[in-house]
Amino acid sequence: MDFHNLKYLFLDRDGVLNRRIPDDYVRSFAQWEWLPKAKEALSILAVHFEVIVITSNQQGVGKGLFTTEDLLLLTDFFLLEIHEYGGRIDKVYYCTHLKKEECACRKPRTGMAFMAVRDFPQLDFSSSIMVGDTISDMEFGKKCGMKTAYIATEKTLCLEEKEKWADACFDSLYAFALLFQTNSL
Ligand SMILES: [Zn+2]
Repeated sequence: MDFHNLKYLFLDRDGVLNRRIPDDYVRSFAQWEWLPKAKEALSILAVHFEVIVITSNQQGVGKGLFTTEDLLLLTDFFLLEIHEYGGRIDKVYYCTHLKKEECACRKPRTGMAFMAVRDFPQLDFSSSIMVGDTISDMEFGKKCGMKTAYIATEKTLCLEEKEKWADACFDSLYAFALLFQTNSL
């Protein structure tokens, strides 16, 4: 599949940029661990994509395990590091609701995609791709009519169920980003 005509990039956060913490949440920057070459990947992607956003479920806030302020402080830290590395995230969207609240914004529901369209009116889902490490991310992308790329960091690559939703599989965000690397870099 050729992704080169895509202009808009939707990224999941945990498991794509930073290491997921099993059965827990990344509550502070002290717990933030960049995945290998994720920052390099973002600097490559920043050259190609016109809009880059993060859409991330963070129901740990809804559970009272950390606050929105904690989440925003953590976000400031990782955005600064991305910026210092030559990368760019244009906006970060979080759903902090509990799953049982059945809000419109918790992935795989599509609310955060439409929030992005409000903020970036040029955004067009047919020229967009969702990159994530869960089926929920792939479903979110497909419901909107985006392309999808599945990141499998654990080498359980491309199981049949995942292939149902994913247009392509990569073992890291960096492997995905290499598709867009130009000679000038
Ligand atoms: Zn929500």
